[in-house]
Amino acid sequence: MVESTRIDYYAGCMAAGLFTDDLFLEHDTGATHPENANRLRAIRSRLDRTIGSRFQPIKRNFAEPEEVARIHDIRYIQALESFCKRSGGYLDGDTPVSRRSYDAAMLAAGAGIEAANQIKSGNLSRALLLVRPPGHHSLQDRAMGFCLFNNVAICARHLQSIGFGRVAIIDWDVHHGNGTQDAFYDDPSVYFISLHQYPFYPGTGAARETGTGKGEGFTLNIPMAAGCGDTEYMRAFKEQIIPGLDKFEPDFLLISAGFDAHRSDPLAQMSLSASSFEWMSRELLEVASRHCNGKLISFLEGGYDLNALADSVEAHAQTLLA
Ligand SMILES: [Zn+2]
Repeated sequence: MVESTRIDYYAGCMAAGLFTDDLFLEHDTGATHPENANRLRAIRSRLDRTIGSRFQPIKRNFAEPEEVARIHDIRYIQALESFCKRSGGYLDGDTPVSRRSYDAAMLAAGAGIEAANQIKSGNLSRALLLVRPPGHHSLQDRAMGFCLFNNVAICARHLQSIGFGRVAIIDWDVHHGNGTQDAFYDDPSVYFISLHQYPFYPGTGAARETGTGKGEGFTLNIPMAAGCGDTEYMRAFKEQIIPGLDKFEPDFLLISAGFDAHRSDPLAQMSLSASSFEWMSRELLEVASRHCNGKLISFLEGGYDLNALADSVEAHAQTLLA
């Protein structure tokens, strides 16, 4: 985990990597904001006491502006840098930034790039990235919904630049991953799947949103009514997600892993438990084993009840070690 914690190298050819960093704690959104640094503290303190040492640490890497510019306008990247470094403030109604937020966002995006490179070189087979700010709502030219740069989308484009042509992204955060959908809506090389509460923030993610042009059929939205739990999620995996992924045959699997569909989450109304994230992780690992030698990277997105978040991330992480 972070430099200060004990590390044992997890021996074996299927090593799982983990990245987190104190800089993410300096993305200061204020103590009363739901997406605050205590989220990461809760996860880290849990993994430090349990299974964190079984992961191989991933080295620190800041994304270059050109790498982020594969998804975002360079003018937005530059404006965000100067806004943060001047003093910070609110970018939209619910997205505050502080002086260190730009650097934290560059490190969150860079984590995906470094993990991808480590997996490409054979040092790791999969990775869990405990980063913030999260990314899946951010759009080409603006921040949105606590998200600054779209970490998972930037990683998908980087993967393609190093030879992984077909990338699948599964977003199980309770909110629709509108930014990721937008980035690849007309692109048949990236298969985007989102399960989310609907109707709900951010308003997009209807089942009829399936892609456009050559990308038609490469976006799969699974909107779910408030209150859904394991039964409905299992049905979605069995009937739509797994068959869709098997047909797509990805070269690499990415997860936008939000944990706010947990029944205790204060921002949403779904009914999952921590163990739900265990079986969902296992299902996706099996897809990755069938099609891409187990290559998978998971990015932390949402999740706002600290105990539920720690429980759920631990369940997810445990599965990634299997
Ligand atoms: Zn969310």
